[in-house]
Amino acid sequence: MFRDIARTTLPVEFEGQEVHLEAHAYEDDTPSFQAMALVHRSRANNNTVPIVRVHSGCVTGDIFHSLRCDCYAQLQLALATIIAAKLGIIIYLPHHEGRGIGLVNKIKAYAEQDRGLDTVDANISIGAPIDARDYELPAKILKDLGYIKIELMTNNPLKIKALSNHGIEIIKQCQSLTEPSEYNRRYLETKRERMAHKL
Ligand SMILES: [Zn+2]
Repeated sequence: MFRDIARTTLPVEFEGQEVHLEAHAYEDDTPSFQAMALVHRSRANNNTVPIVRVHSGCVTGDIFHSLRCDCYAQLQLALATIIAAKLGIIIYLPHHEGRGIGLVNKIKAYAEQDRGLDTVDANISIGAPIDARDYELPAKILKDLGYIKIELMTNNPLKIKALSNHGIEIIKQCQSLTEPSEYNRRYLETKRERMAHKL
């Protein structure tokens, strides 16, 4: 079961500018697997390849601008990129919270990190997977929107592999680099050293 449940136009304010985005809401299998695709079009034609960000939801980062991760900075960069592009898409996945282990486990893992563990060992110590995210839903959404070929904003080689396995052709990887903060430096180092991120 996979449905494009609803769509509308979402006016957003970005850096003092009003921007109108197409908003598509999707649901997969169970209502707990929901996602939103935000599409920006400007002078796109049928051959335009979209630039895409597949963004894992992060309550602490995206909403409260936590400095422990780089999610807020990544999301702002993605918004700036899609708004500047002829055709840009952000697929937002709330159920990817904490790399798919959920909010409670993420905060438990933060507490382990406060004791000195890195993000990978913190997850292991609470018995949670290091990364539980699945990319079938964003691949289905891209196909539903009519885009099999994309440019992807990511530093994560696993995301590229996973989307490719679900039939999406990534013709270009665009790095998504943000400024480290005092609090997320180790988080970013762990991504680079233990999770093969290109940072
Ligand atoms: Zn985050």
